Amino acid sequence: MSNSWSNWSGFVTAEPRLLASPADPGELCDLIRTAPGPVRVVGAGHSFTPLVKSQGTILSLEKLQGLVSHNAKKHQARVRAGTRLDSLMHILQGIGQGLPNMGDIDRQAIGGALGTATHGSGPTLGAYHTQLETVQIVDGLGKVREFKREGDQETIHAIGVALGAFGVLSEVTLNNIASYRLRRRKWVLPIGDMLRDFETMMAAHRSAEFYYIPFSGYAQFIASDFSAEATTVRPTDDDEGSLRTLRRLRTGLAWLPALRRRLILGAVAKVPAEDYVQDWLNVYASDRQTRFNEMEYHLPFEEGPKALAEIIELAEKHFPEVYFPMEVRSVASDEFWLSPFHKRLTCSIAIHHDAANDPLPFMRAVEPIFRRHGGRPHWGKMHSLKAADLKKLYPRWDDAMAVRRDIDPQNRFVSPYMADLFGIEPSPLGI
Ligand SMILES: Cc1cc2nc3c(=O)[nH]c(=O)nc-3n(C[C@H](O)[C@H](O)[C@H](O)COP(=O)(O)OP(=O)(O)OC[C@H]3O[C@@H](n4cnc5c(N)ncnc54)[C@H](O)[C@@H]3O)c2cc1C
Repeated sequence: MSNSWSNWSGFVTAEPRLLASPADPGELCDLIRTAPGPVRVVGAGHSFTPLVKSQGTILSLEKLQGLVSHNAKKHQARVRAGTRLDSLMHILQGIGQGLPNMGDIDRQAIGGALGTATHGSGPTLGAYHTQLETVQIVDGLGKVREFKREGDQETIHAIGVALGAFGVLSEVTLNNIASYRLRRRKWVLPIGDMLRDFETMMAAHRSAEFYYIPFSGYAQFIASDFSAEATTVRPTDDDEGSLRTLRRLRTGLAWLPALRRRLILGAVAKVPAEDYVQDWLNVYASDRQTRFNEMEYHLPFEEGPKALAEIIELAEKHFPEVYFPMEVRSVASDEFWLSPFHKRLTCSIAIHHDAANDPLPFMRAVEPIFRRHGGRPHWGKMHSLKAADLKKLYPRWDDAMAVRRDIDPQNRFVSPYMADLFGIEPSPLGI
């Protein structure tokens, strides 16, 4: 029987000797001890980099999901790390809690979202890992270890963003907030105005982000703020319809940029402004059907508009095949050692490329712009950085690597990709 595995976009594939879904924590520990190495754990396979790829074992925690306990007073919930965000949202809403923020989709497992510093947008809102109160892991020797923010803060900062290489998260306690409502508004504006007013517009809302629509000169701004008003209907998303239009115009008019721009502008003018109030769990996520590959870099906040202007110029001069909107968000600074938001308010810029086409020429051309502006790559999205580059970007890099060695002394979680990333020896195949 073949053990084929591929990520969401289809760009990363693997043929591990073993694909396993432990049914209980005991089996998880046994597998970590005895399964063919390297052992990589998968959440929902939504990362674009080969983090999960292994010729040894890929472990899924799909059977280890759900609520373990909760503290209503402190708005804390302890959940199994395989829990998918879409079920987590409903679990939390059922106990009067809410995730303070979310990214674009709700398909990831919480363990996977934590593993790559998955984030939403908002200058005062941290990525998921900043919610960690306790972390239970199974280490590279198959032993269960537990760490609490109070008392083990340094270790939590070391292993909160850990790419599946600092043990397998089995349970986590999250600091949530009381369930809430958001008023979400969307409108279109010229990109020149958006870049000029970037700092004030991004800071004026609890959560704000924008998409630049390539070859249009326009951005779509999205703002979300707490609301106590009655809920109203969330309009049906037509992101997929808009993408189809942009792709059609790209395919037909790639070499007629003026006409392409005019027709895109016509389509943009028809996009209705949006304004609705909904419970938090009905606001953040959208359904992404069109498959793509993605690169996202996290830049010092003030570098965002400059970098974006350069990327737009590059794409519109040299990459007519590009049609996916570019996404710009902000993320609060945090203390986690391998967090791309470590000690700096961040502007995150994401570029996307149709999964049917080779993404690498565009990504390779854009990456130097991100790097020139001091960017750190999203761990789960395409980038070409290796240990020597990464060490310069993360002041606590060596400390993090020392914690990793303690948790995984036999390098059980080290695949060739992880070895390159961390600058260490790969795990031998088998045990
Ligand atoms: C359509 C789409 C939209 C996206 N939107 C966003 C967004 O809005 N914001 C954002 O920041 N990112 C976004 N991403 C990226 C995505 O959130 C991250 O790549 C995330 O890590 C994927 O979660 P996953 O559960 O699929 O994890 P996987 O990709 O399966 O794994 C990611 C990492 O976590 C590790 N891991 C998984 N489970 C565990 C565990 N139990 N213990 C220890 N390590 C574990 C894996 O080994 C791996 O290193 C998006 C991706 C897609 C495809």
